Amino acid sequence: MSITQNLNQIKSNIPEHVTLVAVSKTKPIEALQEAYDAGQRIFGENKIQEMTQKWEVLPKDIKWHMIGNLQRNKVKYMAEYVSLIHGVESCKLLQEINKQALKHNRIINCLLQIKIAQEDTKAGMTIDKAKEILLSEELLSLKNIKITGLMGMASFTENQDQVNTEFNYLTTSFNKLKEIKTNNCELKKISMGMSGDYKLAINCGSTMVRVGSSIFGVRNYNI
Ligand SMILES: *Cc1c(COP(=O)(O)O)cnc(C)c1O
Repeated sequence: MSITQNLNQIKSNIPEHVTLVAVSKTKPIEALQEAYDAGQRIFGENKIQEMTQKWEVLPKDIKWHMIGNLQRNKVKYMAEYVSLIHGVESCKLLQEINKQALKHNRIINCLLQIKIAQEDTKAGMTIDKAKEILLSEELLSLKNIKITGLMGMASFTENQDQVNTEFNYLTTSFNKLKEIKTNNCELKKISMGMSGDYKLAINCGSTMVRVGSSIFGVRNYNI
């Protein structure tokens, strides 16, 4: 199946209120262009340098989402154009994003990453930590960022019950935290679900899925 066919198939499985982020990391420009020509406008990348190279050559109405672990010293390279940063894990990172956004006179939208997986390898903060950040005086002073939702990654396991539990935990956390509304915090999005589990994620309340290999094919990291 072609990229266009894959995209159309996935879109037909996704309800209207769910945003599809096409995860294009490691894929060449031509692959992204094909998805663009098929109507896709939101792309997710996990390396700032790679995303910036793609942003430079592809049409400017694309919305670029950063979905990877972030190095603070590289935030400056995407501050001019990034549309949403999914994996924010600390207040220090929020400060840096704010500082770089200010230089471009922009407000950058961010999602806080919550740890929902049992595994130690999956990143994220506790819900208590997220609450602490959302209620902090410090956040109010960061006028060039906006926290617009939560993001989570489930365990890499065949055990659907476990994944289901983890996704439900994120939705429950979201429902608690969304009561908090300030000038730069309004939780609207739950980013969860990838190629293997996006349907389950949507059933559990996801409103933003990050799908890569089901659109672009498996990634080859050796080329
Ligand atoms: C790579 C990646 C995805 C997409 O994974 P697929 O299994 O290829 O759909 C989603 N989210 C994050 C954070 C990723 O790094």
